[in-house]
Amino acid sequence: MYDFVNKLRLSKQLLFEEGEITLLGEPTVMMIPQEGFHQMQETLIQQDPLLLYNIGKISGTKLHQMIGHHTINPKTAAKLGIQLLNISGYGKFTPVNFDLENKRAIFHLEKSINRNMKGAREPVCHYIRGMLAGFMEKLTHEPMECIETKCMANGHTICEFIIKQKKELDPDAELVKKQILNHKKT
Ligand SMILES: [Zn+2]
Repeated sequence: MYDFVNKLRLSKQLLFEEGEITLLGEPTVMMIPQEGFHQMQETLIQQDPLLLYNIGKISGTKLHQMIGHHTINPKTAAKLGIQLLNISGYGKFTPVNFDLENKRAIFHLEKSINRNMKGAREPVCHYIRGMLAGFMEKLTHEPMECIETKCMANGHTICEFIIKQKKELDPDAELVKKQILNHKKT
């Protein structure tokens, strides 16, 4: 078994009881079949991708809160956050640039849970980019946003997420307009 999961279980930070899974002391849902997750996302994307992004942000904020009970060091919190995301089934996150001082980061995601979402012509990982933005927002204490520049659902080999401060976004950039500023799918 994956070492990190073992460590969590041995320290009783991950508990499986009948009817309940507890991760870092918080009730957690661990298993949603991929197709069910796709369906939920597709339904929300049809309504408004930003809605899904904002739900992701709440999850990212919550993830930071769970970790916050265990460490207040932002670097340790970031490392633990990435480890937790990597056992959550969204895919394998790698920080290719992680600059807490300047409040920006780039993540690559391999094995994205959304890689098989059919017929997507634009990036679809709004929930995931929301989680990253929400998590970074809490780590940096600044309003942050996340743009998905590459997506496995569109045929790229990875999903790529760029996270930066809200005030540093270029409002004329096509992806910023589509993923952050527009409230309805175009
Ligand atoms: Zn993606």
